[in-house]
Amino acid sequence: MADKGFVGMCDVELCAWNENNDCKAPAITVEKRKSHADCDTFLNEENPWSGQE
Ligand code: SF4
Repeated sequence: MADKGFVGMCDVELCAWNENNDCKAPAITVEKRKSHADCDTFLNEENPWSGQE
């Protein structure tokens, strides 16, 4: 069972869910990489097929 939490603050200004460093997504998924974590809910409305670097 997945842990539940909330996003306290996000500084990914390019994400369409971000409003003044506040995540407005109803839920997010975070993926663990080798050396860091990525938000899989990241959405770039100008280029929806691009991923977060
Ligand atoms: S969806 Fe992810 S990247 Fe976008 S504002 Fe929320 S936490 Fe940040």
